[in-house]
Amino acid sequence: MKKITVVGAGIIGLSVAYYLHKEGAEVTVVDRQPEGDKTSFGNAGGIAVTEVIPAAVPGIFMKVPGWMLDPLGPLAVRPAHALKLLPWLLRFYRSGKKDEFMRIYRSLSVLNSRVYNDLLPMLEDTGLMKELHRDGALTVYETEAGYNAEKHEWELREQAGIRVQHMTGDEARALEPALSSKVTHAVFTPQWSHINDPKVIVDELRGWLIKQGVNVIKGDVGEIQTAGAGQQQVKMKDGRTHFADDIVIAAGVWSRKLAEMLGEKSLVESERGYNTTIQDSGVQLSREVIFAERKFVATPLSCGLRIGGAAEFGGINDKPNYKRASSLAKLAEIYLPTLKKTEGIHWAGHRPSTPDSLPVISRSSLHSHVYYAFGHGHLGLTQSATTGRLIADLIYSRPDSLDYTPYSIKRFN
Ligand SMILES: Cc1cc2nc3c(=O)[nH]c(=O)nc-3n(C[C@H](O)[C@H](O)[C@H](O)COP(=O)(O)OP(=O)(O)OC[C@H]3O[C@@H](n4cnc5c(N)ncnc54)[C@H](O)[C@@H]3O)c2cc1C
Repeated sequence: MKKITVVGAGIIGLSVAYYLHKEGAEVTVVDRQPEGDKTSFGNAGGIAVTEVIPAAVPGIFMKVPGWMLDPLGPLAVRPAHALKLLPWLLRFYRSGKKDEFMRIYRSLSVLNSRVYNDLLPMLEDTGLMKELHRDGALTVYETEAGYNAEKHEWELREQAGIRVQHMTGDEARALEPALSSKVTHAVFTPQWSHINDPKVIVDELRGWLIKQGVNVIKGDVGEIQTAGAGQQQVKMKDGRTHFADDIVIAAGVWSRKLAEMLGEKSLVESERGYNTTIQDSGVQLSREVIFAERKFVATPLSCGLRIGGAAEFGGINDKPNYKRASSLAKLAEIYLPTLKKTEGIHWAGHRPSTPDSLPVISRSSLHSHVYYAFGHGHLGLTQSATTGRLIADLIYSRPDSLDYTPYSIKRFN
């Protein structure tokens, strides 16, 4: 029986642990705070399988100055972090070239087309199917120009097999009566789904794994040493050492540092996002709504209406600016007139974002018993189970299940 240690108990680490446990491995998950707050707790809850358009769309750099002029706008780079971000930005720029864009779009489509095949069995097996709402999502537009500007992206989605239904504002309001007359165009994507509460998924999945005998331990991993089979060492900062046959690094944005210790670059950056969750909001939505031009979303979760978005690059240690969370909730008043209040619980989390919008799902190029599962950016919840399955396929030598090249760590080295 293989002994495998997974570093990180976010949705990616737990999904990897799930699929490795199903293979019969003896799995240990190490996290400095197994039950603590993490990116996987506070996200928007979307199973966003239709999101196959990379962040670096051709021409995006023309829009950046406009977004950044607004101090609470959808994109921000903290000045102290700007220099450190340069390598990421250069690679992001290259990713927006036509050929690269198309390559990335195809690689995202391949990954997302597998999502339900991997997610549904995991939710079913762990008793979490009740948490999933398969009601689609509605992307809404305020202006004809905004809608027309994204028509090409909708065509690309259709070419990737994604079902889309274009609508007028009135048709969108027939589906979601809470929307104001500001909405003039919309696109309904029936394959999107959302969950009741991402924190519930993480907590219950962790609890289920523990009940099945998966060892979840508290430990801050400070060093990883590799050798032959059975000899990998995960060293915690308090001096404890854990031995394993294989190690999977699934530590979200913090994976970059762990990979660097092992001699591998990854360019993963924190793309901080914010939200406000409002209980008793007065807004009834049946599905997630994406406000395309203003770059925020609203999801009806069991813990309240969650309104969020923003992309802030400031590194891991910078303090969050919760004014962003408030400003998104205020923006929502324009589109959701029955919103009773904009105060709620503020939250910020570090999206582990690669410049090419593709996760790292990979065997290490330097250490044959180390694997990487991180860098899922905006789509970590969506791609969690698929990542778990793919890592299990890699460890158990079933690489034929996919061409892993686009997701390899080697692309950064
Ligand atoms: C505002 C916002 C909205 C989002 N909405 C969506 C959405 O609707 N749909 C979607 O699919 N995705 C969404 N995402 C993205 C998604 O939340 C992330 O991609 C995902 O949570 C990343 O999961 P993870 O397990 O890789 O990282 P994390 O959840 O950050 O977990 C990493 C874990 O590693 C542990 N760790 C790190 N370093 C060490 C160490 N040295 N030793 C021990 N433990 C360590 C940490 O304690 C942490 O528990 C959103 C993100 C944000 C911020």
